[in-house]
Amino acid sequence: MAKASDDKESALSVMQGIEQPDQINADAVKKIRGQRRSLPGKNEFLTGIFSGNRTILSKAITLIESSLPLHQKLAQEIITECLKSRQSTVGSQQDTVSPSDQPSSIQYPLSSIRVGITGVPGVGKSTFIEALGTYLTAKGHKIAVLAIDPSSTRSKGSILGDKTRMEELSVDPNAFIRPSPSAGSLGGVARKTRETIILCEAAGFDVIFVETVGVGQSETAVHSMVDFFLLLMLAGAGDELQGIKRGIIEMADAIVINKADGDNLRKAQIARVEYANALHLYPPPENGWIPVTDVCSSRTKEGIERIWEVILRHHSLLEKTGQLRQKRFDQNLQVFLETIEEGLREHFYSAKEISQSISKIRSEIIRGSVSPYSAAWELLGRYYNKP
Ligand code: GDP
Repeated sequence: MAKASDDKESALSVMQGIEQPDQINADAVKKIRGQRRSLPGKNEFLTGIFSGNRTILSKAITLIESSLPLHQKLAQEIITECLKSRQSTVGSQQDTVSPSDQPSSIQYPLSSIRVGITGVPGVGKSTFIEALGTYLTAKGHKIAVLAIDPSSTRSKGSILGDKTRMEELSVDPNAFIRPSPSAGSLGGVARKTRETIILCEAAGFDVIFVETVGVGQSETAVHSMVDFFLLLMLAGAGDELQGIKRGIIEMADAIVINKADGDNLRKAQIARVEYANALHLYPPPENGWIPVTDVCSSRTKEGIERIWEVILRHHSLLEKTGQLRQKRFDQNLQVFLETIEEGLREHFYSAKEISQSISKIRSEIIRGSVSPYSAAWELLGRYYNKP
C-alpha cells in the first residue's frame, strides 16, 4: 500500500512531464494588457481632441462605446471637458465667422450645424453625403459623418461600415466617418451618437451628419439630436412603398427627391410638386420654417449646393430667433430625463428580487392566473421595500 508521501505518484495525480495548459488564454491577456497600456490619459485625450487628432478622437469614441466602467468614467470626464470648452466659445463675440472664399453676406456659425439624413436603403444617402460632404470640405469645412442603426452589428456591415460607400470622403483629411455603434437598445445607441457629436465638435468638425435608415424609431432619435432634418425620397414610389411614415414627413425640414437625373428628372420634378402639395395639408410648423421640397442628383451633384443653402437659411433663422439655443436646451433636457428613465428601468430589472421572479410572474399573467396590475404593484412593492 502506498504511503501518504507517495500520493503524488498515484494515478489520480498529474503525471510529471506533462505541462498543464494555461488557465487563461495568453494571447487574450497580452491583448488586454496592451490595450490598457495604450489607453491615453485624460489630458492626452483632451489635447488630442482639441487639436483635431483623428486617431485620439477615434479612441475617445471607442471609450464612449465601451461598457467597461473604467472606460465609461473616463469618457464622461472627457465629455464634460469638451462641453465646457464649447461653452467658452459659443456666445462669445466670435460666434460667427465668414470664410474668405464666401460672399461676406453669408455668416457661418462657429458652433456646428447638425444635419440628420434619413430615407430608405438605396435612396442614395451615402452618395448624397459624399456629394455634399466633398462640396463642404472643398470650402474649408470639417465634416463628421455618424450613423444610427440599432439593428446593425459591425460584423454584419452596419450603415457606413463599408467605407467604400464614400470613397472620396473616406480619404479626405477634413472628413471623419464613424459607423453606427454596434447593436444595442435604441436608447443606448442614440446616447453614444449624441456623445460622439460632442467630441467631434470639440475636435473642430463644424458640420455633423447623422445618417439613419428611414424605417423605424431611429428617426425620432436622430431628430432629437440635430438642427436640420432632411428626408431623401425617390420619385415614382409612394410613401407607403418607401416605408416612410407620416410622422417622419412631419419632422422633415426638407424633403428632397434624389436621383433627379437622366430619364428620372421629370418624374422627380413631378414628385416634388406632389410632396409640396401634400405638405400644405400639414399644420404649419411653430418655428416659422416652411419645409422645403426640392430635387437633386447626388450622382451629377446638381442641386447639392442649393440644398446646402437651404440648410444655412434654416440655421440662420433658428439662430436669429434664439430657437437654435432653445432647441439644444430642450434636447439636453430630454437626454437628462431619458437617462434617468433608462437608469431606473435598468436598476429595476437587474435587481435580484425582480430578475428572479419576473419570468414566473410573466407566465402567470399569460395564463391569466394573476391580474397584471396587482402583479406589477406586487413587484414594485418588493423592489421598493428591499433591504
Ligand atoms: P443608401 O442605401 O441610401 O445609402 O444609398 P446609396 O448611396 O448606397 O445609393 C444606392 C444606389 O443608388 C447606388 O447604386 C448609387 O450609385 C445610386 N445613386 C445614389 N444617388 C444617385 C443619384 O443621384 N442618381 C442616380 N442615378 N443614382 C444614384
